[in-house]
Amino acid sequence: MNIEVSRRHFMELAGAGVAGSAIAAMGFGEAEAEVAAHARPFKLASATETRNTCTYCSVACGIIMYSRGDLKKGERADIYHIEGDADHPTNRGTLCPKGAALLDFVKSQTRTRYPQIRRPGSNTFERISWQEALDRIARLMKDDRDANFMAVNGDGTTVNRWISTGFLAASATTNETAWCTYKVVRATGMLVFDNQARV
Ligand code: SF4
Repeated sequence: MNIEVSRRHFMELAGAGVAGSAIAAMGFGEAEAEVAAHARPFKLASATETRNTCTYCSVACGIIMYSRGDLKKGERADIYHIEGDADHPTNRGTLCPKGAALLDFVKSQTRTRYPQIRRPGSNTFERISWQEALDRIARLMKDDRDANFMAVNGDGTTVNRWISTGFLAASATTNETAWCTYKVVRATGMLVFDNQARV
């Protein structure tokens, strides 16, 4: 079935069509128009579909997010429905209860939407820009690596390791993203490297 026509929509259209045709065949042509007029509009008909990956666990199920709002006109996307991606090889359209409740996650008022920092001596978090956050992370990593990188161990054997900083990555990524992340982290000499899947 075309992915743009859900089973429910198909059944609604088929039901309306069969009912309308049957009534028309009995000589009630106007009734057919009435039936068509009262068929509930398909709620995803004009939605923008965006493919993504469930954020919760390492299974990394494929999802389709349906949103309103024309991004090309500068409108903000408003996601109002999420379902499993039937074309995704991992989950074939299915979602576990957590994945099925993803819309609540997206709409949650407590979801972190931007970087924040709690500066030394402060007891509150303050919002900062992505640029400031990335610059600060890069600065701190560089300083720590310069101070603690170990080129050789006590026996004089080359080890090229950096063990004073760790990296926590996400497992819900594409193979390509995971490959790049792994290469960058290992290239720095970092040994402490993990993600939520513990793989
Ligand atoms: S839908 Fe469930 S199993 Fe699939 S990635 Fe999300 S949390 Fe994991």
